[in-house]
Parts: sequence; C-alpha cells; structure tokens
Amino acid sequence: MIETIGIVGAGQMGNGIAHVAAMAGYAVKLVDISADQLARAVATIDRNLGRQVAKGKVSDADKAAGLARITTSTVMDFADCDLVIEAATENETVKRAIFAQICPTLRPQAILCTNTSSISVTRLGASTDRPERFMGMHFMNPVPVMQLVELIRGIATSQEVFAEIRTLTERLGKTPVSAEDFPAFIVNRILLPMINEAVYTLYEGVGSVSAIDTAMRLGSNHPMGPLELADFIGLDTCLAVMHVLHDGLADSKYRPCPLLVKYVEAGWLGRKTGKGFYDYSGETPVPTR
Ligand code: NAD
Repeated sequence: MIETIGIVGAGQMGNGIAHVAAMAGYAVKLVDISADQLARAVATIDRNLGRQVAKGKVSDADKAAGLARITTSTVMDFADCDLVIEAATENETVKRAIFAQICPTLRPQAILCTNTSSISVTRLGASTDRPERFMGMHFMNPVPVMQLVELIRGIATSQEVFAEIRTLTERLGKTPVSAEDFPAFIVNRILLPMINEAVYTLYEGVGSVSAIDTAMRLGSNHPMGPLELADFIGLDTCLAVMHVLHDGLADSKYRPCPLLVKYVEAGWLGRKTGKGFYDYSGETPVPTR
C-alpha cells in the first residue's frame, strides 16, 4: 500500500505533484539538489493552496494539514517511501544518475516512476535495479489544475505495479489514461504536430499569427490558439518534442518547422522569455509576425 511518496525535483512539475499528493492525504518527501528551489516550491504550494482557499475549494485547516504533510530535503534518501516519482530536469544523463543514487536507498518493494515527457520509459527502467517496478507517470502542467495523467508501461513493467499506480492516480483525483511507451506518448504525439503545423501555416504565409489563433479558437473551439499555446508551453520544449518524434519515428511528417527553429535560435521562447509568437511586454500580447 502506498502511504509515503518521494518526489525528486522541486521544479514546476515536482511542486505540483507534491501539492496534489499532500492534499490527497499522502506523506510527501520532496527532494532537490537546490535548497533555494525547495524553498520556492513550498512557497508556490502555499500560494496555490491560498488561491484554492480564497475560492472556497479548500478550507484553512485542510491547507495547513496538507502543508504539514510535506517535508523537504537535499539528501537523496527514500528509505521511508513506498513510491518515488522522479520529476527532475528532462535530461537522460541526469535522470540515470538520480536513479543510480536513489535505488540503493529504496526498499525492495518500492515503486519508481518517472514524469518524463519524452525519454523512453523502458530504457530508463532498464538502467535501474527494478525495471518491473518502474513506469511512467506523466502529469500535465499545471498539475493541481489538469485532470489527466498518462500512465506509461515500460516493456518490463508488471501488471500489479501498473494497477497500483492507476489506483493511486485516481486517489489523487486525476483521470488516468494508459499509453504505450512510444515517443511523446499520446497527448504530445497529437498536440505538438498540430502546433508545428500551425507554425508551418504561418511560415508559408497562409495566415498571420492572429488569424491562425482566431481560426482555431473559433473554428475548432480550442480554448487557446496553437501559437498562443506554443508560447505557453515554451518554444524550446515544443522543438525538443518535435525532435523526439522525428528521431524516434523517423518519419518526415514530424520535421520541425524552420521558423520554429529560428524563434528558438533567437531566444524567443514564448511567455517565459517575454517574447515568442507574441510579445508579452505590454498590457496585451502583440503578435510578433
Ligand atoms: P524544472 O526545470 O522546473 O524543474 C526541474 C528540477 O529538477 C529543478 O528544481 C532542479 O533543481 C531539479 N534537479 C535537477 N537535477 C537534479 C538532481 N540531480 N537531483 C535532484 N533534483 C534535480 O522542470 P519541470 O518543468 O518541472 O520538468 C520536470 C520533469 O517533468 C521533466 O522530465 C519534464 O519533461 C516533465 N514534464 C514537464 C512538463 C511541463 O510542462 N513543464 C509537463 C509534463 C512533464
């Protein structure tokens, strides 16, 4: 039975996973190499819970109890955890080094999951001492808001572990969807080629930035246009996923649009740098093309 959850990486995703796990009643141990990042993560969780209190979704007492269930550490020791979810930087070398460090501290029965968006779950699992107790648990950003978790079975993942993680996902208040271990899984496999095609549509002059976004918002009922969404995700991340699809599936239909490459070369990465397909320096975003 899962009672204590360890989380490696206290960035955007790690703090969101800690938030939902603690509010679902689990004891959470959040670990990062950076003490500053841990402090920022706890402050973010506090602020996000405060927003839920203000909306009447969470009581003050539940907020305090949730925060009290989270401990933080810079020491990679998960001896007291039934499950560890790795949500560190999207870099295979970093993730493998983390697994090599934490596996000797884990109980034999502990389950290990990765939140990777693009690296092969089977390959990551094979680098650990427990490929049958290893799988992908792909949360969406922002974790407290988004309903979905993609569950990815590596070739070696046992059925029992998969079922246990599916039950846990439901206890976290999320809806699980099962995806096989192929590049970009389901959501990004479908979403990113659409965004890439929107950039081609711009590149070929079929429509302007605002025409493309308006067309998809009003014509397909998407809550956000694809170029707005690309800026939200980060254009470097969009490009990285297209590279994973292109390399992993070897099909020219996944070739990244040269204009997307150009924006990334310019350092125009979207909202996080203040400029992407829109300029965010003023009151309202202004298209950059
Ligand atoms: P982030 O950069 O916000 O956070 C990564 C954290 O990992 C940082 O706090 C960093 O200090 C920490 N870290 C780096 N090396 C470490 C180590 N050796 N030990 C412990 N901590 C270490 O990244 P993020 O956006 O939270 O992404 C984390 C993971 O989640 C990635 O695998 C990413 O692909 C995946 N993911 C991201 C999103 C998204 O939209 N951002 C969505 C789904 C999945």
